[in-house]
Amino acid sequence: MAAAARTIEELDAEVSVCRACPRLLQWREEVAVVKRKSFADQPYWGRPAPGWGSPRPRVMIVGLAPAAHGANRTGRVFTGDRSGDFLFASMHRTGLANQSVCVDAADGLALIDTRVAAAVRCAPPANAPTPAERATCAPWLDAEWQLTGADVRVIIALGGFAWRAALQMIRSAGGTIGSPAPQFGHGATAALNTSHGDVTLMGCYHPSQQNTFTGKLTPAMLDEILRQARERSQG
Ligand code: SF4
Repeated sequence: MAAAARTIEELDAEVSVCRACPRLLQWREEVAVVKRKSFADQPYWGRPAPGWGSPRPRVMIVGLAPAAHGANRTGRVFTGDRSGDFLFASMHRTGLANQSVCVDAADGLALIDTRVAAAVRCAPPANAPTPAERATCAPWLDAEWQLTGADVRVIIALGGFAWRAALQMIRSAGGTIGSPAPQFGHGATAALNTSHGDVTLMGCYHPSQQNTFTGKLTPAMLDEILRQARERSQG
């Protein structure tokens, strides 16, 4: 289904009805019915969250997976939870988004030359997809890369899981990543020869509460990665 999509709109429509992972399917739908008390009066999306942003980005941000009460509720990746608040506020400060407000799909937020996608598109229990689920979901990311990646010059991987997904995406499209494969780290970079030309992969800690509440990832640290990415993408 992913490979057959001819446009990003087709891809988004196809992925939104994907049911390939039994564990994630069960979880995303259960959460959408039980809901969190504070969102009890809201409808939940309860489906895979497609990538979102510029249709021809220069920067691609790869995250982990939708949050159960974030994108699994709002239907837009990184929207409706504190990780997204942290990320989009930084994107606004660094010129990659038109505003910092990120609430739902009708909030007016627009990304500037940037696209955000998750390595796994359904909310996983405990925010922890398995490597097998990442492999099952990979064709959606691969197809998104094929359809939107022509102008991408920087890929930012939010966390090691996304780093490995991004490398696999490049490899699947016939690119070369070197051997041994570059290792994830905050601030790590890797020069990749991809099907869309030379791209820099940049590592950044994931803006999860585990990292932002403990100070492992500060706003200044994220700003620095995004600022560098923006500069490199325009060079
Ligand atoms: S995680 Fe990906 S492959 Fe699995 S059901 Fe969701 S969209 Fe489909």
